[in-house]
Amino acid sequence: MDQFDQGQMAHLPLAVQVISSTWARDSHDLFDFEAHHLHTKTFTVLQSMVCVRNDTEVMMMRENSSMPMGSDPLLRIIQKDGYFWVDKASPSTSSKKLWRVVRDSSAGHHLTEGDIIKLGRFKFKVRQLGTSPLAQPELRLDDANGACCPASLDHEALAATLCRICLLEGSTEEDPLISPCMCKGSIEFVHLGCLRYWIRGRLNLTDGATGGSYFYRPLACELCKAIYPTYVTTGSERMPLVEVPKTTPPFIVLENLVRDSQQHASRGLHVHSSGAQVPTMTSYD
Ligand SMILES: [Zn+2]
Ligand SMILES: [Zn+2]
Repeated sequence: MDQFDQGQMAHLPLAVQVISSTWARDSHDLFDFEAHHLHTKTFTVLQSMVCVRNDTEVMMMRENSSMPMGSDPLLRIIQKDGYFWVDKASPSTSSKKLWRVVRDSSAGHHLTEGDIIKLGRFKFKVRQLGTSPLAQPELRLDDANGACCPASLDHEALAATLCRICLLEGSTEEDPLISPCMCKGSIEFVHLGCLRYWIRGRLNLTDGATGGSYFYRPLACELCKAIYPTYVTTGSERMPLVEVPKTTPPFIVLENLVRDSQQHASRGLHVHSSGAQVPTMTSYD
């Protein structure tokens, strides 16, 4: 419900102009370009101040002055060493997390890896910008650091070991047995090919004319609930456990930032190639 045209943190003259625009409708922390009744105010800030909001009313207050009942601190501006700073959002300060509003008709914003963006009510982290001709998406989530599972190279030792999916025994170079989760005993091993077949059925990954755009999410073992590793190695070769389509650069990898456990199912990576004609990013909403 709030947005600031933050003045440049100018050296001279020693003032910051803050323009606030508020509106009554709840728009889930997004700037509402369609709001008709904007309450706009301009403040000239000459010293450290705290900006607070009470409904659509925005006020600029001296630091340490007592806030009116029910008001919400938005922004803390600090004057220090001849500069003005916006205090970074943290539980101990009075600043809210600030977002830059990017309107599609404007010059836009040049994305870099690590940026957090909001599209509609979803938040994404820019994990990777693949621009070089040989780049492929790195399938890695923040909390699952690209774990790797080595396939056993000792096929003789596994000659009598059963695969828990197909119930056939034996491991070969083409289809090695792997131990991808915490399961032990008679269900410890599975053929790489059998596991991939099972995953393919769960993930709905489609090849085809999308330039290799897809939604990747890590899957867990249904028995022990351990997340399957992202990669497997056979000898010196490392490959994604999931058989993902080849992605045409340039592409972007966006990680869903999930707020609560209810959205757990949507956790994952949107791999989006712009090397082919595909729907615009806003279609993720
Ligand atoms: Zn098998
Ligand atoms: Zn398991």
